[in-house]
Amino acid sequence: MDHDQAFELLPGYLDQELSLSETLEFERHLAGCKHCQQAYEQHRRVSAQLRQADLRVEAPPELVKRIKAALPGRRPPLWQRLGERLGRWSGGGSLNWAPVGAIAMSLVALTWSAGLYLSVPSSETRLTQELVDNHIRSLQFDHLSDVVSTDRHTVKPWFEGKLDYAPPVIDLAPQGYPLVGGRLDYLNGRPVAVMVYRYKLHPINLYVWPGKDAGGTPRLYGKQGYHLGHWSDAGMNYWAITDAGETELNGFITNLRSHS
Ligand SMILES: [Zn+2]
Repeated sequence: MDHDQAFELLPGYLDQELSLSETLEFERHLAGCKHCQQAYEQHRRVSAQLRQADLRVEAPPELVKRIKAALPGRRPPLWQRLGERLGRWSGGGSLNWAPVGAIAMSLVALTWSAGLYLSVPSSETRLTQELVDNHIRSLQFDHLSDVVSTDRHTVKPWFEGKLDYAPPVIDLAPQGYPLVGGRLDYLNGRPVAVMVYRYKLHPINLYVWPGKDAGGTPRLYGKQGYHLGHWSDAGMNYWAITDAGETELNGFITNLRSHS
């Protein structure tokens, strides 16, 4: 990638709109180009300021209603339709949902690996891709931590005033997962707190933001060689991602939840 191409991609890079390969190529160029580094720094500072400024305006309910009415109707996701159909077959009522969930999950997995049917990726698929890209980027560009500290009493106050919520910061050093820092990142359309842990030499990024998108039982995913875990606890959504093994990730999540 030459300088002009890189310069053109800079805004997309800042907005995390590039594909992974474009991102990696761009970062290769950036590492060796002073001009692009300066431009990147300037842009980054401006967008960070914009992000912190409270520029969000709530749309009036009337406008929301009109936009919703103008959108084409969406079909419920496959698993939901399938669940409803199974529910009807079994006579509804006292349906045991566990096997339905299992069937639906494997169908989703099949559908995903086959790359068919889901022309628009589900929000979860998009989010896991975003997480993997974000995780890789945090390692590639040496942007793992904005605040580097193994002390949760340093990390926790660092988030104050930067977010409209206080993420729980827990150290798990005695359990083999030391906290090494934290950073602000932009994910799922909002600024989020990221706590950075390590298992041996493997970084673990833990993303936290308010909401209850998942149940209390963590769901584990594998994607591009990374392991991801997703759960909700006490009004917060959690996503953990690492290149450590699934057992290690499981251990991390179990320890984290028992110390929350
Ligand atoms: Zn350049």
